[in-house]
Amino acid sequence: MPQSKPKPNPKAKSKSKPKQRRPQAPAPQPATTGALTGQAEDYLKAIYELEQRGSAAGTNDIAARLGIAAASVTGMVQRLHRLGLVRAERYRGARLTEGGRAAALQLIRRHRIIECYLVERLGFGWDDVHDEAERLEHAASDDLIARMADAIGNPTEDPHGAPIPTAAGEVDETRLPSIADLGEGEPATVVRMSDRDPAFLRYLDELGIRPGATVQVLDRAPFGGPLTLRVGANEHVVGTAAAGQVFIRLEPR
Ligand SMILES: [Zn+2]
Repeated sequence: MPQSKPKPNPKAKSKSKPKQRRPQAPAPQPATTGALTGQAEDYLKAIYELEQRGSAAGTNDIAARLGIAAASVTGMVQRLHRLGLVRAERYRGARLTEGGRAAALQLIRRHRIIECYLVERLGFGWDDVHDEAERLEHAASDDLIARMADAIGNPTEDPHGAPIPTAAGEVDETRLPSIADLGEGEPATVVRMSDRDPAFLRYLDELGIRPGATVQVLDRAPFGGPLTLRVGANEHVVGTAAAGQVFIRLEPR
């Protein structure tokens, strides 16, 4: 490399090229998302969510989750592998390293606190916040998120009942059964539901199915047919696919 310019004095402020000299990381944290692109962060989150199902995240699953072509997934997974955030296992898929997991959980924390704040402080509907949070989660600083969380009393669940990871990256990862898994007559409380489809959330809202609602399967049509549910004091017929997207906690009879 030609060295035509003298080395800049490290103490002088270099306004022209601030990106060339990054400040040293304050603590030996595995990997912060600060240096990652929004796209890379989305990959980490997708891999985290897929891994929660119990196996490595396959290329096709990552592509479907992110709504992109499978062909473009491999390159990014390799990049995240080189950054030490992902272990790419040939034919098996990708798994997060400890650093990748920490980065994914911080992103999920930002996402869920933003959702809470939008609902609590800005009057958004619970069906309206996911897409906003998908965009804002990449831009919000840790300080902003800490202040937003403080302003609404440090919530532990998002508006759809999903647990919010702590700033230290702790989160309850218990896998819950869904309404579709319920036996007839077993009382249960709704804990959380998928928030990716606003129309689905509006549908659940009409049925009174929200976190905290009590549900019971009254009847189950054979061969995977619809379920008749008691939700609070009302009865509704719900398809198995929808019931499978609503996660519950069993209650003692
Ligand atoms: Zn969301």
